[in-house]
Amino acid sequence: MDADILFAGGVVVTMDARRQIVRDGAVAVRDGRIVAVGKLEDVRAHWSAREVRDCGGCVVMPGLVNTHTHLPMSLLRGLVDDLRLDVWLYGYMLPVEREFTDERFCRVGTLLSCAELIRSGVTCLADMYYYEDTVAETVAQVGLRGVCAETIMKIPTPDAESYDESLDYAQRFVEKWQHHPLITPAFGPHSIYLCTPEILHATSMLGLKYDVPQLIHIAETDLEVRELVEKLGEPPVVWMQKQGLLVGKMLVAHGVHLTDAEMRLLAERHIGVAHNPTSNLKLASGIARVMALRGSGVNVGLGTDGCASNNDLDMFEEMRLAALLPKGVSGDPTALPARVAVEMATLEGARTLYLDGEIGSLEPGKWADIIVVNLDTVHETPKFALSDNNVYSQLVYAAKSADVRDVAVAGRFLMRDRELLTIDVPAVQSDAEAMASRIDRFLAAREENLVDKIVGIGGVEQQETFEVQVKVRLPDERALRHLLGHKDVNVIRESVRRQYDTYFLFDDPDKGHVRYREDNVIQPDGSLVPRYGLTLRGPTVERVYENSVILSRSRFSAVADRSLRFYREYFQPDRIKEVNKERRRWRVQYKGVDFEVNADRLFRPAYDDLFLEIKSRTWSAKDALAKAGLIGEMLEIMGVSSEQIVRKEYVDF
Ligand SMILES: [Zn+2]
Repeated sequence: MDADILFAGGVVVTMDARRQIVRDGAVAVRDGRIVAVGKLEDVRAHWSAREVRDCGGCVVMPGLVNTHTHLPMSLLRGLVDDLRLDVWLYGYMLPVEREFTDERFCRVGTLLSCAELIRSGVTCLADMYYYEDTVAETVAQVGLRGVCAETIMKIPTPDAESYDESLDYAQRFVEKWQHHPLITPAFGPHSIYLCTPEILHATSMLGLKYDVPQLIHIAETDLEVRELVEKLGEPPVVWMQKQGLLVGKMLVAHGVHLTDAEMRLLAERHIGVAHNPTSNLKLASGIARVMALRGSGVNVGLGTDGCASNNDLDMFEEMRLAALLPKGVSGDPTALPARVAVEMATLEGARTLYLDGEIGSLEPGKWADIIVVNLDTVHETPKFALSDNNVYSQLVYAAKSADVRDVAVAGRFLMRDRELLTIDVPAVQSDAEAMASRIDRFLAAREENLVDKIVGIGGVEQQETFEVQVKVRLPDERALRHLLGHKDVNVIRESVRRQYDTYFLFDDPDKGHVRYREDNVIQPDGSLVPRYGLTLRGPTVERVYENSVILSRSRFSAVADRSLRFYREYFQPDRIKEVNKERRRWRVQYKGVDFEVNADRLFRPAYDDLFLEIKSRTWSAKDALAKAGLIGEMLEIMGVSSEQIVRKEYVDF
């Protein structure tokens, strides 16, 4: 019978149900599918091929399946490293993506990633990104197989202003690609923390409707899980089960911090996990309990994650780490043998993508997604044939991705003798370098300017403040009580609060400073209601009056919804200073004009004296002058002398 290609000779690693390894083997391919696998002489006896590919000295095996990546992010490779996940994600990746991610970015980044994937033996990938239509088009054109998911989140993304727009995009995308031979379209709700329950319900309904997978990040970091447990009252996967969200086809990326109960739920629902050892190590997310996952019956595939957190797409490295980490963690060298690592990188990975009926092993009827790995290298010498395990050991512990010689998907060669046949590599490299220099310039400018930096993380409001203010130092409260009891002073509202301020200071005075404030308002019943705010203050312009000053300055303020640690690592101040105080605050009217009176007791730095601030917003020089006059009168009521006036801010004490 006629075949198109015959992979002839070498060791055929089939990954079939019996995990057969055939020495002096052969694989025959016709119309993109495998038609025969066996001993070379047997296959030859039945099949004659147009092309015979000599694989002597090589391993012929199923192409590797990368179950989790973000292809266009190869353009951000090496941009910022050695940061914590939240600083890395919210401080850098999301702002840069908002600025640069468009169709061209996705096309160039996808081409660059595909070139790297093919060169390291990957034939199938699972991607989650934006402009997924462009990603899918590029993957298909290059000839790789892909599960491509459009990312959906509750915050604006580069390709959608709101989540309903992203859902619309995703739905149109899925309809367009539904029956493509290489592409499986999918929905990509980013994660529980970046989605709302409505989004998660919508994507599960759509996933069921179109019978396509949903890819989602779950339990990547301990912090994420702790915050979710606090919010949802239970571990994320348990919550999803109760919400009816564990339906249809799904793949969980990471799963580093899953509980045993969550693992059992995933196993029951046949939902797999994409294990990304390098990315989890690099972002210090932890080490997924792969032995426990597989032990509870969860299929575990391997992934590289995006290039910005890896920083390469080398599946041979992931195989090796997947085999080594469980040994190091458990102290048991028999944990996760090499054969299992190869399974995870091929058949089991295909199973997590619901594609194991089509790919993942070399068996007649499956697509001819085949790679040839050259073992005729110094680092693969010598070779033993004691048992089948010798071959797996070679592949996992010694082989390098650069040993991959040929790659074919559905019988089409994408690489032959390490030469890429479907990608113009020099052109892609030069496009990528051009893109990188634009990103470099953008970030360099932003790092210089605190305003851009604070705006970069979102949720910021700008306010110009123009206020008249005086601060005086009092030995006790007598003067204060005298003022508040005065017939011309009308107290409208009062509150007591404990304020913990952390100032981020910079050597360059033009930069201004950033204040992180924990403001605890003390309720009548004595309980505290904390609020967290972030304020960037630009340099202040002062005009000094007889008793008071007018301050005008630009302020940017935002609710501080991330930790103090996040902001410290993100802003990287030259110095940090803390000011803690108890503030009693009165809103008063003096002769019908609004003022704020603050009586502050500083306990860090500690002072015995009381500090009193009187201030009022103003809008014109004339109004400011009038208010400065009224402040002067109030100082007189209190009997304050000019030596008691303090012209410094607390942060400068
Ligand atoms: Zn990811």
